[in-house]
Amino acid sequence: MLADGMPMTAAYLMDPNSIPATNGARMGYKLSDFQFIRTLGTGTFGRVYLVRYKNSDQYYAMKMLKKSEVVRLKQVEHINSEKQILAEINFPFIVNLLCTFQDDRNVYMLLEYVVGGELFSHLRRAGRFSNDMTRFYAAEIVLSIEYLHELDIIYRDLKPENLLLDHHGHIKIADFGFAKKVDDRTWTLCGTPEYLAPEIIQSKGHGKPVDWWALGILIFEMLAGYPPFFDDNPFGIYEKILAGKLVFPAHFDVNAKDLIKRLLTADRTKRLGNLQRGSDDIKKHRWFRGVDWNGLLMKGVDAPIVPIVAHAGDARNFELYPELAEEELRQPQMDPYQSLFKEF
Ligand code: AMP
Repeated sequence: MLADGMPMTAAYLMDPNSIPATNGARMGYKLSDFQFIRTLGTGTFGRVYLVRYKNSDQYYAMKMLKKSEVVRLKQVEHINSEKQILAEINFPFIVNLLCTFQDDRNVYMLLEYVVGGELFSHLRRAGRFSNDMTRFYAAEIVLSIEYLHELDIIYRDLKPENLLLDHHGHIKIADFGFAKKVDDRTWTLCGTPEYLAPEIIQSKGHGKPVDWWALGILIFEMLAGYPPFFDDNPFGIYEKILAGKLVFPAHFDVNAKDLIKRLLTADRTKRLGNLQRGSDDIKKHRWFRGVDWNGLLMKGVDAPIVPIVAHAGDARNFELYPELAEEELRQPQMDPYQSLFKEF
């Protein structure tokens, strides 16, 4: 991932859906309340663990970020903003934040545990998704981006690694590290090379349309099994994005191709999703014909992949990662960074 300046207690936890995200430290939470089971995923400056809350026997995902790394990589603002945004939002296809806290070494975000694993793993295993499968996931994502944009939040990191599947196979968007509340435009270079819109690469200032561009990349990648612009190194990718040449595999549906072309329009004033009728233009596109948008929102439409899960703390759908030494989880004696993480 790229970011600016980088080389490259108890009853409260029982019902995740009814709890507004609060400051866990004030609720008295501490690291020792949780049993760390295994790593579910890693990010640039932290990792996400499957944890068991000892008092209730419930499972959660704990995102742990090392403060000194966050400071070194100039990500303090992004992390505070991630907390603020996650605390504000509540949507069926977005991961739910339960609480946050910090100790001398780390900041922690306690999230609902999304058991089905990354869409990325399911896509790599399948090779590519059918037109109908792709439409299902794309539709749940369209609703999510529409919701975020109504709140003036741009997501900025749409990609299969950040899309998880819940136990019924519905999408849950994770990782709001690059999400930002904006009135108009912002200038920070962040995101993932293959998914960056031309205006981000050209440092023109960017806003909500970057998420519709990334949706176009995502639909292409789900249907093809690979993204439309790729290369061994980021600069090669940027060159291809700016050249804008799309080569569609022969099996692509004509309506899918049309939608992808309209989303991958370099001129953002002509990009679908950014025209007068906003996201409605996308929802009414021929490729989405027949989609029951209201049913989808109620999770009333059956998902194409139902993850195999044997019990609440089952982590079989996640890749295995080398675990950190116990020492890494212990706290240092002094903490020069506490005041920087005001949201935690
Ligand atoms: P992040 O640093 O937020 O991108 O998270 C890194 C990885 O951890 C993700 O790609 C997922 O594999 C995993 N992960 C993050 N949040 C959750 C969650 N709430 N439930 C299960 N796994 C998660």
